[in-house]
Amino acid sequence: MNALDVIRTKRDGGELTDAQIRFFLDGYTAGRIPDEQTSALLMAIVFRGLTARELATWTATMIDSGARLDLSSISRPTVDKHSTGGVGDKVSLPLCPLVAACGAAVPQLSGRGLGHTGGTLDKLEAIPGWRARLGNEEVLRILRDVGAVICAASDDLAPADRKLYALRDVTGTVESIPLIASSIMSKKIAEGTSALVLDVKTGGGAFLPPIEKARELAQTMVGIGERNGVRTVALITDMEWPLGRTAGNGLEVAEAVEVLAGGGPSDVVEVTLALAREMVALAGLHADPAAMLASGRAMDVWRAMIRAQGGDPDAPLPQATERELVRATTTGTLQHLDARAVGNAAWRLGAGRARKEDPVSPSAGVRILVKPGEPVSTGQPLLELLTDDVARIPDALIALADAFVVSHAPFRPRLLVHERLSQ
Ligand code: URA
Repeated sequence: MNALDVIRTKRDGGELTDAQIRFFLDGYTAGRIPDEQTSALLMAIVFRGLTARELATWTATMIDSGARLDLSSISRPTVDKHSTGGVGDKVSLPLCPLVAACGAAVPQLSGRGLGHTGGTLDKLEAIPGWRARLGNEEVLRILRDVGAVICAASDDLAPADRKLYALRDVTGTVESIPLIASSIMSKKIAEGTSALVLDVKTGGGAFLPPIEKARELAQTMVGIGERNGVRTVALITDMEWPLGRTAGNGLEVAEAVEVLAGGGPSDVVEVTLALAREMVALAGLHADPAAMLASGRAMDVWRAMIRAQGGDPDAPLPQATERELVRATTTGTLQHLDARAVGNAAWRLGAGRARKEDPVSPSAGVRILVKPGEPVSTGQPLLELLTDDVARIPDALIALADAFVVSHAPFRPRLLVHERLSQ
């Protein structure tokens, strides 16, 4: 067998055998097959796709490239959540402790942000002392003691994906549904959870904006999960407008704490509860997440979870030194606030990174002072931009140039949860 034959087969629309897929992916992970040949195969997959059988073997090979976390010593049912990422999407922060308070164990192995969407680990790192990197024994101990853990995936979890994803990022081969689905699901399956709820975003601020693409990705991931013995449900949720009233690491932590305290923006609460209900049901539990949130027990779990990872839940969050207001230039109702523009502005203010190795600011970001549907008048502040570097403000303002629509037309609210998919 040789790599060139595998590339030619896929290029010409043929179907790869299981042996060819394993030969290629194992060879790439071990360094026997070079980046240029792997890039060619990935590009052929972008154009030709993968059949259901090819996708199953591709995903299984990525899982088998590393270790699996063994959660069999955890007595509670395990359930996790994955979001395809959005602007202001801090839902994991209140959701994990909430579902743990309902009786499940939530092992959330998360990533960092790249581009206009934030990463859960970057957000939590705004909390003084909090550590993302834990050993496997520590993860298991926190899951047993607290019920929820949010941490970085260890290097031996699906290493084939880490290498492939970095290559896809620089070769224009990220945008392929089978490649995205296998990348996400290989990590979630290797993490050892028994059940998984997927939050697939749709709309302008989403990774794949059109709802047809979101649906196809959701269906593909549900199929992979179920075939691998992980009970999987997907919700397609809206990301046309930012979620909540903040985008930026420390700002989002503060908003998540408001939700845990029984307040917070209604859209964040609604998406959190919708996902929590699915997770609780998949875990076979009967608790009511809304009642649990109101009881304050989710907040107790949050505090224990932050402390277990070295963080101080009572420490003040870092505050930005520079601030700029963006004001309305007309009167009416805010009809639209572009999620991608707000994400890009937060990123340019220092909340996000352009390259994997860049640092992020814990205090930079955007505070949303007016949400779509609310009235505005000329001169009223709409957004507050926060940064530690005043030189970043002009670029953020450019990102926001076409971010708003204000008019007197009747306001059309958007659904937050569009669809639910299961097998
Ligand atoms: N997130 C991942 O983990 N993998 C992808 O391919 C895309 C988004």
